[in-house]
Amino acid sequence: MIKPNMNYANLKDSYLFFRIAQKVKKYSELNPDKKILRLGIGDVSLPLAKTVISALKTGVNDQAEKFSFHGYMPECGAPFLRTTTIAEFYRKRGVNVADDEVFVSSGASDELGDILDLFDKENSALVIEPAYPAYVDANIIAGRKIIHLSSSIENGFTPEPDEDHIADIIYICSPNNPTGAVFTREKLKKWVDFANKHGSIILFDAAYEAFIEDENIPHSIFEIDGANTCAIEICSLSKTAGFTGTRLGYTVIPKALVRNGMSFNSMWVRNRTTKTNGVSYIIQKGGAAVFTDQGQKEIKENIAYYKENAKILMRVLDECKIKYTGGVNAPYIWLKCPNGLGSWDFFDLLLDKIQVVGTPGEGFGRCGEGFFRFSTFGSHEDTNEAAEKIKNLFETI
Ligand code: PLP
Repeated sequence: MIKPNMNYANLKDSYLFFRIAQKVKKYSELNPDKKILRLGIGDVSLPLAKTVISALKTGVNDQAEKFSFHGYMPECGAPFLRTTTIAEFYRKRGVNVADDEVFVSSGASDELGDILDLFDKENSALVIEPAYPAYVDANIIAGRKIIHLSSSIENGFTPEPDEDHIADIIYICSPNNPTGAVFTREKLKKWVDFANKHGSIILFDAAYEAFIEDENIPHSIFEIDGANTCAIEICSLSKTAGFTGTRLGYTVIPKALVRNGMSFNSMWVRNRTTKTNGVSYIIQKGGAAVFTDQGQKEIKENIAYYKENAKILMRVLDECKIKYTGGVNAPYIWLKCPNGLGSWDFFDLLLDKIQVVGTPGEGFGRCGEGFFRFSTFGSHEDTNEAAEKIKNLFETI
């Protein structure tokens, strides 16, 4: 008889966004005239850059003509994107990445799940919480032991490694979702040294690197000495360039990453050539445009738009003396709920009194209880309106 993967039975219901949607639906049904201001979304709201759209159209036109038509794409990425564009992008930033250390992907979520094929089931995984929920869930599905490392406002949500929390796989997300915190060069160096010492491998999620504005914060873990023997970097164009619905990302696996005589780079080539037939030609054409000078200029304009939202919200939180992290190098603001309120109590208060929807911190791990996440991916109009209402509400509680 077939035996399903029983690990699925160990997954907790992904009730966070479902519960938010239910509560908002109920509120809207009871209060149809009230406008809901959504500061909970993790999706972008601005369209793709013009340069990207024009490259996507060129891609479509190429597919219409025999001489420029592309069938299956190279599994690890088209050379025009993989090598001349992304690997070169790293090198221009002073990070020494070889052409064949870059892998084009359909986005970070896909990679975060698939990359676990490279690890034994017996490997343990360390998740620094609060965390993007996919890290825990993907490892539960694979049946791995998960070691939870709580972070807190005291360590700025960027804890240092410690000998009580040793694991084979270590997740680091910087800039972080949900806390918006960033790991400094010094802290990352400690994690890299720790991983090399214990033979662990860091899965570095750099989905929000484009939001970093502080020059001292690394965009890539490969800016840190020693990272090429202990890290894999997973990147995405979703938030960088509005590709959430278009789907494109990239992953860097150094050739120096070897355990038990097995090269993770070679294993990933074997994995991709077995499990994929490459990312669509048209999408890769669009992705390459992101890295042109004009593309960079246009995506930075979009990021600046979201950062303006962050400034609006941070100004209000500062005025109300609410503690928070993020907002500067990240599109998320993570705040301490006022008056000791729990995450869901605060959610209900915001919805009932001012119709603002955010994300309760508890959904990102137990230590997120008592915290709340605002996203800056909405419109200026909604963010301004929400900020004004938040300020008025905080003055009364
Ligand atoms: N990693 C983090 C930390 C995220 O917040 C997200 C999306 O919200 C992803 C990965 C997934 O990105 P993608 O759209 O490339 O799948």
